[in-house]
Amino acid sequence: MKIAFIGLGNMGGGMAANLVKAEHEVNAFDLSEEALATAKSNGCETFADPGEAVQGVDGVVTMLPNGEIVKSVYEGSVIGKAPQGAVLLDCSTIDVATAKEVSAAAEAAGYDMVDAPVSGGIAAANGGTLTFMVGGTEKAFGRAEEVLQAMGKAVIHAGDAGAGQTAKICNNMLLAISMIGTAEAMKMAEKLGLDPQKFYEISSQSSGYCWSLNAYTPMPGVGVESPADKDYKGGFATGLMLKDLRLAMEAAQTADASTPLGAHAKELYEQFARDNAGLDFSAIIRTL
Ligand code: NAD
Repeated sequence: MKIAFIGLGNMGGGMAANLVKAEHEVNAFDLSEEALATAKSNGCETFADPGEAVQGVDGVVTMLPNGEIVKSVYEGSVIGKAPQGAVLLDCSTIDVATAKEVSAAAEAAGYDMVDAPVSGGIAAANGGTLTFMVGGTEKAFGRAEEVLQAMGKAVIHAGDAGAGQTAKICNNMLLAISMIGTAEAMKMAEKLGLDPQKFYEISSQSSGYCWSLNAYTPMPGVGVESPADKDYKGGFATGLMLKDLRLAMEAAQTADASTPLGAHAKELYEQFARDNAGLDFSAIIRTL
């Protein structure tokens, strides 16, 4: 397929390169010259204008920072500019309301569109092992699947438009809560005189097991290797976790969902992000 890829940053850069590896032709556009130069070296054709990048393509993939930018890119450069038959895939993490709005505008103009946010960070984007949670019609999902499979290890149809974003923010709210809980328990065990490694060995095989403890242990030198062992560099940035928690709390409010722990996790990450937005989100253990 011929695919336009808009937004070639930390995540999009590797994703576009994986589309090229899967023998898709990729037209790349980004506001950053540096991102474009990298895309070119990875085999993409680069464009100075997004409206030109979408000419004659079979699909458009976007990986952009937020909902406002996604809306402006689709309204200004994709809808009405890409060929009618093109399938549109927004892989950014954005608010559910904007995802639904942009999908509705695309559908009204005759396009199939999915929201397809990802789980997995930069390493998964580079390695082609992302998990995609996809919102859209059966038809749009069917068309998007081939494109997504070239960039990920799992592609799951979550439901109608917006369902991908809903899955993503609910998952990440749970992750934030479980990370804080894991960090609290590990620090408390240590303060009570229990060797944290012993606590890890026991709890990771008991009812306390969870991804944050078992697969991403937040304490250096304990459990599995994780960003904690690299001074909390790399991994999933605290600033991005805070972004997702804000989206989650916004969505909770619109749905009248009760999320007391999600709200508290957001407050804790808000405080922590003031000086530590670039550190991995598991570094929140340092505040305990
Ligand atoms: P990033 O800031 O590295 O990349 C975003 C890119 O979009 C940049 O290269 C920027 O120049 C470009 N851009 C901004 N406005 C644009 C416009 N109007 N037109 C064209 N290009 C434009 O961000 P990222 O880390 O790649 O994240 C992208 C999305 O993926 C976000 O929604 C983020 O929440 C989500 N996400 C990130 C991670 C992660 O670990 N980094 C993990 C999961 C999901």
